[in-house]
Amino acid sequence: MCSVFVSGLSDSSAGRIGPAVPVYGSSAHEAKALSDWRTEEDGNTEALRNMRTLSQCVQCFSVASVILVAMNNFEPAYLKLLRSGELKERVKEAYNRLEACDVCPRECGVNRRESAKGAVCRTGERAVVSSCNPHFGEEAPLVGRGGSGTIFFAWCNLHCQYCQNYEISQLGQGREVEPEELAAMMLRLQALGCHNVNFVSPTHVVPQILAGLLIAAEAGLRLPLVYNTGGYDSLKTLALLDGIVDIYMPDVKYADADVALRYSKVKNYPAINQAAVKEMHRQVGDLVMDKQGVALRGLLVRHLVLPERLAGTPEIVRFLAQEVSTNTYLNVMDQFRPCYKAHELPPLNRRITSEEYAEAVSLAQDAGLDRLDERRARLIWLWR
Ligand code: SF4
Repeated sequence: MCSVFVSGLSDSSAGRIGPAVPVYGSSAHEAKALSDWRTEEDGNTEALRNMRTLSQCVQCFSVASVILVAMNNFEPAYLKLLRSGELKERVKEAYNRLEACDVCPRECGVNRRESAKGAVCRTGERAVVSSCNPHFGEEAPLVGRGGSGTIFFAWCNLHCQYCQNYEISQLGQGREVEPEELAAMMLRLQALGCHNVNFVSPTHVVPQILAGLLIAAEAGLRLPLVYNTGGYDSLKTLALLDGIVDIYMPDVKYADADVALRYSKVKNYPAINQAAVKEMHRQVGDLVMDKQGVALRGLLVRHLVLPERLAGTPEIVRFLAQEVSTNTYLNVMDQFRPCYKAHELPPLNRRITSEEYAEAVSLAQDAGLDRLDERRARLIWLWR
């Protein structure tokens, strides 16, 4: 699951995302924003339960949204394709691919429009959403002052045996939504003042995201999109996203295919992941921010350090520096902790040590990567 290790320092512990049922308003920022936007519903939880009602409020959200974003001149990539009619074509093409699914490199070949049977991601025609809210625990360029507007999808095309959010990624906690509801979620996040719409674990639901985006963009969505992925993405699907996604945020989890197979039950991860990251960088380039340091466009990579160097950090930082860009914005993540089946899989049955993390950061710096996520870099500086 992408962003499983939602980059630390969140209001919940160790980067784990909030309760599996959708809960809005879990922080002071969110509560304040939500109280401003509460409509006829009694409360936030009730409003969320009635997401169908929210979907009928697309127009209300869009009016407010346009006011919020009119203050700067940023135009997200997808608007050009909306105007040309290409966005609609991409939705059709993506949905066609659900009929013998090759949306991700698993290439299951099943007809997801009929059922989820045989799909490794266990997702049928409708996306399953676990939660949708402003998030203040993501990387600083995504959070800014208004938060990152996360939409967490249930299920995943990876089966990481140590997933911190396994109830969502492996057990599927969430609720099926129609594209209209997805659109309403995007517009609501914009109305709440989020800086972006951050699709978490989007790989297996790209068609559904595009369908929701078409509706939301027609109704006034103007935020950049963040594609927050575990990094097992096919080039064919990334081509569908070219000119639509503004910010790619892939994990680069492993440098060794056998390790990936053992711990995430996936074949050929490093080759597929590295090809995907290069294509993402080709599409959007290095991370670009506005004057306030808020991300507008580009690539942001996450790498989770695992015990006993299992992730292959030396090879990964070398790949990023030599084959992508030394200006790659990189979050070297330290928040691994044993979850799900990790207790039965040593050495994943322990947290990483401060030495292991410091070594990973040093390796990144020595490779020439100097745009490291600041929170982590500061910690390392303190340790030294
Ligand atoms: S998106 Fe799901 S069904 Fe389609 S190829 Fe990937 S795992 Fe299989």
